[in-house]
Amino acid sequence: MTDIKELLLSRIRDVPDYPEPGVVFKDITPLLADPAAFTALTGALAELSLRHGATKIVGLEARGFILGAPVAVRTGLGFIPVRKAGKLPGATLSQSYALEYGTAEIEVHAEDLSEGDRVMIIDDVLATGGTAEASAQLIRRAGARVAGAAVLMELGFLNGRGRVEAALDGAPLEALIQI
Ligand code: AMP
Repeated sequence: MTDIKELLLSRIRDVPDYPEPGVVFKDITPLLADPAAFTALTGALAELSLRHGATKIVGLEARGFILGAPVAVRTGLGFIPVRKAGKLPGATLSQSYALEYGTAEIEVHAEDLSEGDRVMIIDDVLATGGTAEASAQLIRRAGARVAGAAVLMELGFLNGRGRVEAALDGAPLEALIQI
């Protein structure tokens, strides 16, 4: 493992049985509190975004906002929040997706994306892949193209990669750390 990956991994805290029994929550707050690690992380995500030709950065609520906003500033690209339903005040496009129990819905301001945009999706953790898959569908429905998706950590044992790659339609799914 490279130095940067070791640094990032060392700053992610495992919280067993949160938010419910059986789930190991990957807490990135120690990483955010360490300027060297946070700078290294946003630098790596910015480099990936530029390498894949992004023209816009989309962050997924909520930790994707914390990572995506500095990536947008570092790359000189605009930042667009994909939010849980009911939070955006303007005209939105919505996308529903299945959870283990029930459904979730995410939204984006329709006017923020247009044809010709190539969007990089940024989030902290890829688990089942449902959120990233729905985000890619939302971006395409808005008329934009997906440049790729980049996460800090992929939980490989949940097998989310396949569904996300299908939704990315050939664009890359990048994970700095895979467990
Ligand atoms: P999913 O749609 O299942 O891929 O879940 C992705 C979203 O849920 C991301 O925005 C993550 O922040 C969050 N998430 C899911 N599982 C975890 C976990 N074990 N630790 C931290 N965040 C998680």
